[in-house]
Amino acid sequence: MSVFRFAPSPTGFLHLGNARTLMLNALLARKSGGRMILRLDDTDVARVREEYAEAVRDDLAWLGVAVDAEYRQSERAALYSAAFERLREAGRLYPAYETEEELDLGRRLARASGRPPVYDRRALTLTKERRAALEAQGRRPHWRFRLSDGRIGWKDGVRGPQEIDLASLSDPIVARDDGGFLYVFTSVVDDADLGVTDVVRGEDHVTNTAVQLDLFAALGAPPPAFAHHNLLTTADGAGLSKREGSLSLGSLREQGVEALAVAAYATLIGSSEAVRPVADLEELAGLIDLGKLSRSPARVDPEELSALSAKTVHGLAYHAVAPRLEALGVGGGAAFWETVRGNLARLDEAADWWRIATAPLGTVPAAHEDAALLAEAAASLPSEPWDERTWKTWTSALSSATGRKGRGLFAPLRLALTGEPHGPELARLLPFIGRARALERLHRST
Ligand code: GLU
Repeated sequence: MSVFRFAPSPTGFLHLGNARTLMLNALLARKSGGRMILRLDDTDVARVREEYAEAVRDDLAWLGVAVDAEYRQSERAALYSAAFERLREAGRLYPAYETEEELDLGRRLARASGRPPVYDRRALTLTKERRAALEAQGRRPHWRFRLSDGRIGWKDGVRGPQEIDLASLSDPIVARDDGGFLYVFTSVVDDADLGVTDVVRGEDHVTNTAVQLDLFAALGAPPPAFAHHNLLTTADGAGLSKREGSLSLGSLREQGVEALAVAAYATLIGSSEAVRPVADLEELAGLIDLGKLSRSPARVDPEELSALSAKTVHGLAYHAVAPRLEALGVGGGAAFWETVRGNLARLDEAADWWRIATAPLGTVPAAHEDAALLAEAAASLPSEPWDERTWKTWTSALSSATGRKGRGLFAPLRLALTGEPHGPELARLLPFIGRARALERLHRST
């Protein structure tokens, strides 16, 4: 069985780019009948906050992603220690004592002399005496994984065959001097332990994959299939960041952007599939194919997203929105929803139309030349029960009586009945307004 996972670090709020990673994994899991795991990569104790972990769960729920299991790396230290010991016994780990400043200086010197800023494995040449001297000064080692020599390759689900020369990379630090383990290592231990078969993540992880494939090999674990999707950028081409909130999922939710539109937008832009509204995640899953993703970054256009959101709302079925309408105090069942949905930019505007139809309206000034028409309209209002044909019966008679037709007939009626110059089809809205309110509104406007 396929096992996919979404593995955010709860060090900030998820953004649209994270939604791309999430939805690709969740929908591919769904499509293949596989499992979907949420793993919180919370090893960076200095930056992790519980509030971010909770926001991740809220975002998943909002997007309609249900996971089969959730893990937190902070609860799995025993597993990492065991894997660490195995690598150490196999001679693949070595202690190093450089401070951040020393490492930074090394990188700058390398760059200045035209060499790649790769760690020079200086710590491998430390003598026992030198180590003892460093420890006597109070220095604690961090631990590096000695990468294999040569090149490593994989068949990437998006990018095709990849090959990276391991000599171009620094031996990764797997444990800090305080004993904490680092993501590049813990992720491999977890993916192996949880039987992850597919890792779909952003292009920014391509070099990590080379390192991690070497770690899988050193641990004797079969690696998952890797696929690296193109990244999303802001309109001016900057990368999205968890720290800068504009395209965070929480802020999109607050702006009333529809979750299904976010899911569709996040997965369809930057692919050969046209950005389009979908009726549900099932339909979206049918459009997802890693082979269709482009290799270059995709720019997010907030206006395109809003437009998609409105179109998505227009297509939402009543059963998909009923609980939300109820929470907004919108009644009228499927008939009301179908009457107004095509006029909404955001779903919560349905409450405005419900209020317009069923609550007292403010004053609506009628143009003087319409007073006679509205008086006649009030006098000829059919008796109830009303249905969608009432409007036609009423306005046809009114047209014959007054000689008005088209805009000249409908615009004043609309304004008097709803207080708005535009809106849902009146034939469908009228039964919700009902005779008593209609009569009162027409009288008030004359
Ligand atoms: N915690 C990593 C991140 O948020 C996970 C990357 C991965 O999918 O392995 O970038």
